[in-house]
Amino acid sequence: MSHDRVIDSVAFARAGSECHGTLEGARLTRLADNLVDRQGELSYRVCGGVWGGKPGLGLEIEGWLLVRCLRCLGTMRWPVRINNRVQLARDEADLDRADDEGIDAILGSETLDLVELVEDEVLLQWPIAPRHDVHQLQECNAAGGSEGDLRNSPGHPFAALGKLSRRDGGADEGIQDKEV
Ligand SMILES: [Zn+2]
Repeated sequence: MSHDRVIDSVAFARAGSECHGTLEGARLTRLADNLVDRQGELSYRVCGGVWGGKPGLGLEIEGWLLVRCLRCLGTMRWPVRINNRVQLARDEADLDRADDEGIDAILGSETLDLVELVEDEVLLQWPIAPRHDVHQLQECNAAGGSEGDLRNSPGHPFAALGKLSRRDGGADEGIQDKEV
């Protein structure tokens, strides 16, 4: 361990301190419910500073985690890349003010847990509908691995959609001659 994982946040910010570290997926207890598998790794860098007269923390988080693809329900690697800044609020009123201004803020704490800070930030940026993207289609079960699979509907990305329209339309080969 090159640093303490608990910092006095405001003092850290005012001193312009900096620290970094790496977290293995297995340690991310607050994210566990959202992960398909607790592999993965996040590296983070936290930089203290004072911006606009207010202490804050700059956060850079990079790495990957395993989440569920909503298209094929398989496991997908979510590349995490977060670059954000949070203001350290003095009290609840200060927190509300920042909120009104659309500024990310947390209550300044003398015992801020960096692991929790990183986890909270990752949760805030969590993808709403994670899907294998165009570069990962080989891994996406719904996209099929070969041309043959693609031709047959079970492997097609829109197979689920096709099934849905067949259910009410009755068309078999994807040709829709639905009566309106
Ligand atoms: Zn997928």
